[in-house]
Amino acid sequence: PPQNGNKGLGLEEVEGILLDTPSAEKAEEWLKYYTAGPHLAGQNLSQAEWTRDKWEEWGVKSEIVPYDVYMNYPLSHSLTMLEHQKKHDRWHVVFEASLEEDILDQDPTTALKNRVPTFHGYSASGNVTGSFVYVNYGSYQDYQDLVDAKIDLEGKIAIARYGGIFRGLKVQRAQELGMIGVLIYSDPGDDGEFTIEHGYDAYPDGPARQPSSVQRGSVQFLSTMPGDPTTPGYPSKPGVPRAPAEGSTPTIPSIPISYTDALPILKALNGHGPQAKDFNKYWTRGNGLGYKGVQYNVGPSPDHIVLNLDNQQNYTTTPQWDVIGIVNGTIPDEVVVIGNHRDAWVAGGAGDPNSGSAALNEAIRAIGTALEAGWKPLRTIVFASWDGEEYGLIGSTEWVEEFLPWIKAANVAYLNVDVAVSGPTLHVGATPTLHGLLRASVHKVQSPNQTTAGQTVGDLWSGVIPPLGSGSDFTAFQDYAGVPCMDLGFTSGAADPVYHYHSNYDSFHWMEEFGDKGFAYHKAMAQLMGVIVANLVDSVVLQFGAVDYADALDAYLDKVEAKLHGEAAEPETDEQIVVFRAQVAPSEIKGSADAFRKSLEDVRDAIADFRVKAHATDTRAEWAEKQLREGIPWWNLVKKAKLGAATVALNNKYKYLERQFLFEAGLDGRSWFKHVVYAPGLWTGYSGATFPGLVENIDSKDYLNGLRWAGIIKERIQQATKSLA
Ligand code: GLU
Ligand code: CA
Ligand code: ZN
Ligand code: ZN
Repeated sequence: PPQNGNKGLGLEEVEGILLDTPSAEKAEEWLKYYTAGPHLAGQNLSQAEWTRDKWEEWGVKSEIVPYDVYMNYPLSHSLTMLEHQKKHDRWHVVFEASLEEDILDQDPTTALKNRVPTFHGYSASGNVTGSFVYVNYGSYQDYQDLVDAKIDLEGKIAIARYGGIFRGLKVQRAQELGMIGVLIYSDPGDDGEFTIEHGYDAYPDGPARQPSSVQRGSVQFLSTMPGDPTTPGYPSKPGVPRAPAEGSTPTIPSIPISYTDALPILKALNGHGPQAKDFNKYWTRGNGLGYKGVQYNVGPSPDHIVLNLDNQQNYTTTPQWDVIGIVNGTIPDEVVVIGNHRDAWVAGGAGDPNSGSAALNEAIRAIGTALEAGWKPLRTIVFASWDGEEYGLIGSTEWVEEFLPWIKAANVAYLNVDVAVSGPTLHVGATPTLHGLLRASVHKVQSPNQTTAGQTVGDLWSGVIPPLGSGSDFTAFQDYAGVPCMDLGFTSGAADPVYHYHSNYDSFHWMEEFGDKGFAYHKAMAQLMGVIVANLVDSVVLQFGAVDYADALDAYLDKVEAKLHGEAAEPETDEQIVVFRAQVAPSEIKGSADAFRKSLEDVRDAIADFRVKAHATDTRAEWAEKQLREGIPWWNLVKKAKLGAATVALNNKYKYLERQFLFEAGLDGRSWFKHVVYAPGLWTGYSGATFPGLVENIDSKDYLNGLRWAGIIKERIQQATKSLA
């Protein structure tokens, strides 16, 4: 491992402690605690206090940081299908949805009296009645296909299935098109191999989806702005002025429903309007209710069959609580932050987020053990247990907004873990500068799956590191503060037991039976976090790679050019399909595609210049590391637990590199997002857009504005080059 200047313990010894200390039994114990009852955002003070006290017990100075947040709690809801009887000239109810998840004897969490109702965070209150239209996944292009087919959407209620994009965007587009309400259901066709149709039992008897399961979740317009919708760009402290929430939250009501509740509604569309198969292949992927008699007609339902959706939410401004722990480093102005959210939609929340909370706790306990053994970390470590992630990344966003000057000055990197475990497959996203550290770290942790002895989690990893989009607490760090980020989790794939995301069945019982028998993946995640944090915190020379950033920029520009030339490959992977189906429909062509193309050549040249300086920086870092390793005294490197001027200068280059990509005025129509390289895709949310200013204007064929963005991006890259000089 890299050198830490020999204060107290060497980095190798620290790594040893952080690998040896985490235990599966302890992780299980913490998970049991967090999943024992509801802990919705703003309703989990006792868990905040417990978390603070545990961290204190492990030697970490900790406190609760409160915010006053505008948010909703459910009051009541109902969903009814009505049919008009000509003879008596009256409407009669043909179906009343249960909107409840079944209580299961084997799973005590599902029977809790105070369990959380099924609802959407930031959904609008409203009571609407109208005929309804099936809108597939509700992606931008799904709606566009309906518009092109002359399906009347105005005044109708949308029924969309979950999948692909962030759910709030399904509601946002429906609202823009004049629809009056949205239902979102979980189609078992999107669940992979383990379905009832394929002969598997449903949870709790088997790995298939429990038919009554409902995915709660926020419908905030995440791509516009995360955080408290009433405090854009400043912290939600008591008494601050409040902006209207409408810009980033829906004005039409929506609710999530199970496929059991969706069945009669979808069936009522049989024979009405075109079928999914009449559109294109993106409409028939994973249609899983055909065997139940659903023909996937889009409708609209005839005038005499309507839905009534009544959704009543209590909007209030109420405290939420982050827990912040700190271990001071020997140098004052370099900080590594590691965080996980604590709030959950459901009483359990075993995977989301508390597998992460349990793993983070084990990593912290291990760090406490290392401190006790004499470790003196070079940099400061800040631990965070965020509240309000589920409603809109609130705890992390408000905290970043509050401490922005300090974060911009001192924060070296942010490490996020949300769902630490929902299956066995390692999935990581990261900023390019951190790729090298990530690749090295995954090979230091033994895999719970030992098909061959000594197998590491790195051996079983795809090696793919996608850019970070949004949907978890790294967003404000990356897109608002320009901090390099990493996001870690073991996820479930098509051949794993169905993960009941945001459902009552994301419970301790599910985790112990299906998600992580023996809690070995929880332990592996704690070890991985520990190793990464130790290297970030304690290597004298930051383990960053600037050339990796140059490689990434070139690759992103390749993609932009391919898109412009219409050479983008046929989308194949789920991820590519999501992005493809999120393209906005072009309006009139503005400016010249040729001039725009030329401007991309300038961006390419700027990247080439950047690469030269990036290479020089990485070379210097390697040289400095070698000096340290060989014990060659070079006073500028480390002196009395202080870094010498040359080392500080080198580390500052790495530390501030990411900040150079921030553009103060922000992205078009969403000025909160400041990063010119990364943003959540406008109509994907979770999946990231790279060079958003370029790709968005290719989609809309506004080459004039694209040209402007090429200029802005070129300038930011030149600034980055300067910062490395
Ligand atoms: N992880 C949450 C979700 O996907 C994030 C909510 C948000 O980003 O607003 O629902
Ligand atoms: Ca705010
Ligand atoms: Zn989460
Ligand atoms: Zn979640």
